Amino acid sequence: AKGLGGNCYQLYEHRMNARAHELLVMESSLHKSLRAGELRLFYQPQVDLATGELIGMEALLRWQHPTRGLVLPGEIIPIAEDCGLIVPIGEWVLRTACRQLKELQQHCGTAVPVAVNVSSRQFVKTDLVDTIARTLHETGLPPRLLEIEITESMIMHDLDAALAILSELRRMGVRIAIDDFGTGYSSLSHLKHLPISRLKIDRSFVRDVATNANDAAITGAVIFLARTMGLEVIAEGVENAAQLDFLMRNGCILGQGYLFSPPLPVDELVTFIHGRCDS
Ligand code: C2E
Ligand code: CA
Ligand code: CA
Ligand code: CA
Repeated sequence: AKGLGGNCYQLYEHRMNARAHELLVMESSLHKSLRAGELRLFYQPQVDLATGELIGMEALLRWQHPTRGLVLPGEIIPIAEDCGLIVPIGEWVLRTACRQLKELQQHCGTAVPVAVNVSSRQFVKTDLVDTIARTLHETGLPPRLLEIEITESMIMHDLDAALAILSELRRMGVRIAIDDFGTGYSSLSHLKHLPISRLKIDRSFVRDVATNANDAAITGAVIFLARTMGLEVIAEGVENAAQLDFLMRNGCILGQGYLFSPPLPVDELVTFIHGRCDS
């Protein structure tokens, strides 16, 4: 039994080392990915639920890895946050989203905003507002066509700092959305004072909205709350007609999800927008 215990421990240690090694390899190749031009943005259309009309899009990070294929943010973001790479990667995401939307605007007349996810590491950095202002200036994208997605916890972590940042962004004309709304803890009395444009109902509520009474109640309450506060509300992860039906019956106007479109590479987004765009 003693020997067995020893073997188990060695096996465990071996596995831990293998995992740690894998993470290190990923980290160093992620470093190179920026310079090597391996990062991509996919865009998921956001639509008017009733008409299907495009009302915006969310930029989502992808990594075209030389041997592993397309790597999703679930694998990229935790590593990038751990080692600080999230700041340069976040700046790349912002710049690329603004540049590509500006091109879409020029070539296809697209006049809907692009939403960019911002991580907490970027949000606490003091120069986020400057970075955004500079990026808008350099790309020539009108500020009203940029939306920043942040989470409740980023706001609640330091309310005064968040209020200062969000107020400045709003003064510039940049839109602010609260992502994954309902999954964090935010005080409504605080939210009321923040210059927010939009609440995004988290996918975890939308998933079972047609079959689970609790999720239906929460989703209905969030829609009602948003409308009462004069905020836009958008449902994430809309996958089927039953969810769509519930959302529309409960006064939700906007949505995104596989029912309408998965995240698309930019050339396929152009096809989604126009069928065809001569550029
Ligand atoms: P999120 O911001 O909640 O983004 C929505 C996620 O749901 C995306 O996953 C999207 O592909 C997926 N999704 C959209 N519609 C549906 C649907 O109908 N059904 C299902 N099951 N899923 C759907 P993705 O692209 O893997 O991104 C995961 C998360 O990674 C994002 O969650 C966001 O938190 C983070 N992320 C993505 N891009 C960036 C980025 O550029 N910067 C930062 N800081 N985080 C990012
Ligand atoms: Ca998001
Ligand atoms: Ca979300
Ligand atoms: Ca989510």
